[in-house]
Amino acid sequence: MSGLGKGIVTASIGKELQSKGFKVVPVKFDGYLNVDCGTMNPYRHGEVFVLDDGAECDMDLGAYERFLNIDLKWDNNITGGKIFRLIIDKERRGGYLGYDVQIVPHLTNEITKWVKKVGSDFDADIVLVEVGGTVGDLENSYFIEAMRQLALENKNSTMFIQVTYVPILETVGEQKTKPTQHATRLLQSMGVQPDVIICRGSEKLSANAKKKIALFCNVPEEAVIDDPDSETIYEVPLLFEKQNLVELIMQKLCIKPSKKDLKNWEGLVEKIKSPKKNVTVGITGKYTALKDAYVSIKEALIHSGAHNDCRVNIKWIETTEIEDGKQTLDVLKDCDGVIVPGGFGERGMEGKIQCIRYAREKNIPFLGLCLGMQLAVVEFARDVCGLEGANTTESDPNTKHPVVDLLPEQRRVVYKGATMRLGGHDVQIKEGTLAHKLYGSTKARERFRHRYEINENYVKTFEEKGLVFSGKAVGENVMQISELPNHRFFIGTQFHPEFTSRLERPNPLFSGFLKACMK
Ligand code: GLN
Repeated sequence: MSGLGKGIVTASIGKELQSKGFKVVPVKFDGYLNVDCGTMNPYRHGEVFVLDDGAECDMDLGAYERFLNIDLKWDNNITGGKIFRLIIDKERRGGYLGYDVQIVPHLTNEITKWVKKVGSDFDADIVLVEVGGTVGDLENSYFIEAMRQLALENKNSTMFIQVTYVPILETVGEQKTKPTQHATRLLQSMGVQPDVIICRGSEKLSANAKKKIALFCNVPEEAVIDDPDSETIYEVPLLFEKQNLVELIMQKLCIKPSKKDLKNWEGLVEKIKSPKKNVTVGITGKYTALKDAYVSIKEALIHSGAHNDCRVNIKWIETTEIEDGKQTLDVLKDCDGVIVPGGFGERGMEGKIQCIRYAREKNIPFLGLCLGMQLAVVEFARDVCGLEGANTTESDPNTKHPVVDLLPEQRRVVYKGATMRLGGHDVQIKEGTLAHKLYGSTKARERFRHRYEINENYVKTFEEKGLVFSGKAVGENVMQISELPNHRFFIGTQFHPEFTSRLERPNPLFSGFLKACMK
């Protein structure tokens, strides 16, 4: 079922295989009929992750990138929408002339072809395919069928790993294996016998539960793997390593390792688990009840924390409550720094602006991401430049001072899907600025997802009042990083640095922000 952590399991298996010298590439299948999740809100599907090629995709791809430290592409996420669109377009072009187009074999063939193509595009030794959803769902059944066919054609080079939930029934205090047994039965009825069963739960499996699962699900006991809740998700590869999961995989796939080292990873996990220092960072937002909406920011803070021997406690601040007067800015009192993340729509914006003013005036480290930068500019315009009523036209289309306005090319956009300014772009960094110091370079590559930008007509006014635009689009007068030099740390970015942060390579802006918080 969703929320179980299949993405983390997949990423962790990948990490372990990587550590043995294999080149891995993940593919995620999502059964929904949307082409991508760019048009879904975070309540429906958690964070929308953005890849370098501009794909707006499932947040599991974020987990893969953070663990595996590789750049993925649009193709690494197959959705129901993408595969059906492909089939229907092909049918209209006459690709199946004379035939009736069927789920099996036409759709399933396209899926296996796609998976193989990703494998060869990435020149991978092993493709990890994660099937989203639950066994028995109508939505992923054709995908499981495609994987059955793939396995039939490639007996010695494919294997199946089932991820199940083993609940503990409170009244009897016992781990229940029935849901796993029935899920496996269902899978077997579809022609798939799992080679390994990974059991998620709050605790490790009891010896008895493990025996039962092995017996009823038709796998050897050593292939029943524990995956209890852990302190940090980054520990999961180590947990699997202890249970020899990767040996089982190598045996089944008939492959041999060329090296062995998870040492660096292990050191980072140690730092996450027992750091010497502690800071509290306030993150403002309007989906704060749903932590999945801001998962990349949360993880980016963990990454720079691991490299700075510091734990980051996050305080979620619901800005709609600040607007309604249900909360005061006192909530920021114990915060060592403030992050204002990206967002869409008017709701919560004024509350965010209040938080930004607090951080600016009280000299508290501030990082504004996308909408966070735009609102930092609105705040600066109103309070420092005296532009009364200044706003982004996203919130007030008739504002007297549209300091943030639609990108010119966005005025013509009618369709909603994949029409924002998306994906990785180079940013030109101005020498001698804080951004330059942090990146250690005059070029940075970061990922974007926006329709609005800082209005060029106001840039001179802002600069005269002390705001520095330290990052611009290459060869264009488009503002992409703003900073306040006489503040301890005050940076806004039109891009999302959280999307390029990985455990082994934290984003420099997050690290700089964290260091400022630690002071
Ligand atoms: N809503 C703003 C825009 O479209 C900010 C987007 C974001 O924060 N990702 O430009």
